[in-house]
Amino acid sequence: MKAVVYHGPGHKARDKVPDPEITDEGDIIVQVDATTICGTDLHILKGDVPEVHQGRILGHEAVGTVWEAGEGVHTVAPGDRVLVSCISACGTCRFCREGRYGQCLCGGGWVLGHKIDGTQAEFVRVPFADMSTYQVPGGVTDEEILMLADILPTGYEVGVLNGNVGPGDVVAVVGAGPVGLAAITGAQLFSPGHIVAIDLSDARLEAAKHFGADVTVNNSREDPLHVIRDLTGRLGADVSIEAVGVPETFELAVKLVRPGGRIANVGVHGAPCTLDLEDQWSRDITITTGLVDTYSTPTLLQLVASGQINTGRFITHHFGLDEFDEAYDVFTRAADTGALKVVLSR
Ligand code: NAD
Ligand code: ZN
Ligand code: ZN
Repeated sequence: MKAVVYHGPGHKARDKVPDPEITDEGDIIVQVDATTICGTDLHILKGDVPEVHQGRILGHEAVGTVWEAGEGVHTVAPGDRVLVSCISACGTCRFCREGRYGQCLCGGGWVLGHKIDGTQAEFVRVPFADMSTYQVPGGVTDEEILMLADILPTGYEVGVLNGNVGPGDVVAVVGAGPVGLAAITGAQLFSPGHIVAIDLSDARLEAAKHFGADVTVNNSREDPLHVIRDLTGRLGADVSIEAVGVPETFELAVKLVRPGGRIANVGVHGAPCTLDLEDQWSRDITITTGLVDTYSTPTLLQLVASGQINTGRFITHHFGLDEFDEAYDVFTRAADTGALKVVLSR
């Protein structure tokens, strides 16, 4: 089969590779019907995620059709349409028993396109299939459900729920990429007072308005601290959500919150950040970090199936599975292309 293979920082290629095979009775092989590219794939290509070795097939998001199932798989069978979650879970270790699947101790967690071969391929082996895939409900398209593989649960769990967004809150979302937009989508379930989107790209800020941000700030031209202070009687935001993954945006997210505020870091960081504890120690702030667990996927599936969340609007570009070069190019140049999520389908 053909697959997108990582060849070290700055390099990837669509190579011919062997088809994946079942290696454990809990595995399935999924024929990929639709997959996408994540900001995290761009971090990998920058060299920010050194655990990814050369030769690894990239990708951790897919919707597909079960091709083959191991003998120990009980909940899905060949022919079923499934969502392949970015997080796999053994289901039995201490952390999986707490719903903390991202921290799975027995070969799960974020493994696809990271520690094992991923989804930017024609076929993918998914371990612990019973815990790591979801039947796709009727009446929704592959690409609508594909947004639940990573960005929606990430924005919701690591951003909105970790940040404890509540009614009336002023929520600052730093970074209006797909994950920031997913956080904006999730925040609205809690009736915040204002959602302030902050990004360097006007195209992304325009998207943020459509997704429900009522205030947008381009921080290449305007100081977000002034905007937030004006909006909150000089206090600061109740919650800030960092959805970029560079030191300056984490440091900004910390500055933006009021005393007692919450900073939910979502970004994948590849370099140390400064926490000015000499300024912050007395401000009663809470900082959370997290790898998505995807414990919210069943809830999000219901919200999508019932039309309460519209995931179709994340998708700006469509490609075939043989057009990864074009798709990476469009996604990487999002400020020029207006790309949010690009979908590659069979
Ligand atoms: P993306 O690259 O598409 O979006 C990032 C956005 O940040 C862009 O719109 C960009 O213009 C903006 N940006 C860059 N520098 C900025 C700055 N200095 N100030 C303001 N905005 C700036 O990425 P994405 O797919 O939306 O993902 C966002 C982050 O979330 C990435 O770091 C990704 O790795 C991470 N992520 C984390 C998890 C998790 O489990 N914690 C899961 C998925 C993704
Ligand atoms: Zn991702
Ligand atoms: Zn586990």
